[in-house]
Amino acid sequence: KPVVLSGIQPSGRLTIGNYIGALKNWVAMQDTHDCLFTLVDLHAITVRQDPAALRERCHEFLCLYLACGLDPARSTLFVQSHVPAHSQLAWILNCHTAMGELNRMTQFKDKSSKHADNINAGLFGYPVLMAADILLYQADAVPVGNDQKQHLELARNLAQRFNARYEAEVFTVPEPFIPEVGARIMSLGDPTAKMSKSDEVEANYVALLDEPKRVVKKIKRAVTDSDAEIRFDEAAKPGVSNLLSMYSAVTGEGMADLEARFAGEGYGKLKGELADAVVAFLEPLQERYRTFRDDPSSLDAILRDGARAARERAAPTLDRVFEVSGFIPAA
Ligand code: ATP
Ligand code: MG
Repeated sequence: KPVVLSGIQPSGRLTIGNYIGALKNWVAMQDTHDCLFTLVDLHAITVRQDPAALRERCHEFLCLYLACGLDPARSTLFVQSHVPAHSQLAWILNCHTAMGELNRMTQFKDKSSKHADNINAGLFGYPVLMAADILLYQADAVPVGNDQKQHLELARNLAQRFNARYEAEVFTVPEPFIPEVGARIMSLGDPTAKMSKSDEVEANYVALLDEPKRVVKKIKRAVTDSDAEIRFDEAAKPGVSNLLSMYSAVTGEGMADLEARFAGEGYGKLKGELADAVVAFLEPLQERYRTFRDDPSSLDAILRDGARAARERAAPTLDRVFEVSGFIPAA
């Protein structure tokens, strides 16, 4: 089976956009791929974090991973900081990355303007750590949204460069994996910007842990378009198209069927039904979340096993990297 690696950083609150664009696909891939899913806490500290809040959020995200259907019996589920090889490989890759390459990264430009008071070297080197995450496990494919394509390109370049420089097949060159389903979900307040879990405006996203009443309110207030026609047209009607995408993703109903069913109806009806559908999807998910949350010893066991499995898988790659680099063995 092809090896797949993917991760989410514990920042903000997991949204329905993260579910539709990432977690939903991860769950489906468990049958067809050899999957590693990680919570990338090392990435999260590239922006300032309150330690207590970070700790709590990491637990929350892991329980949500499980509630969404990630299955530790079929996938390797682990926390990035539990596997020291990520940081070790990142250092070595840093020494093979040009400043100019990192300077071109649009996410760095974005984030450094948003966090002007804390433009640290880690934020600059973020894509190198991400390359290490991927290359460490010889991943064949990495599911990426548009926002991460540039970073994956760097990982590919680094793999090729390293292999060429040391004349050895040390790393697999990963391919981007664009899942069929998994539209990009847009912000409820601005359908031309993507929904983002660290958006400061809470009304712009539906969080997976939002209370049903809140979900209904947020969806009812979502920005639509000026005419009153319900059809899928991302360019001309981004707001309504976004609502339809969400609807289709949570219910599995095809777009053509949805358009036919809502033909001639008003936005109010679409929003009402969408809110019901999202709540019907979230309620059992939240119930499962609480089950995991209330059983911390099971979560600990899952993390322990995941960390061990990930460390074992990462070790041969790091050994090989050390060897071709000319480092002498420890014993
Ligand atoms: P942040 O604002 O902290 O960057 P984010 O919502 O962009 O939060 P990431 O941790 O950057 O989340 O990405 C996690 C995963 O979710 C990635 O696979 C990303 O492509 C996917 N994703 C993020 N936002 C959306 C969205 N609006 N629609 C679909 N997929 C998304
Ligand atoms: Mg993001």
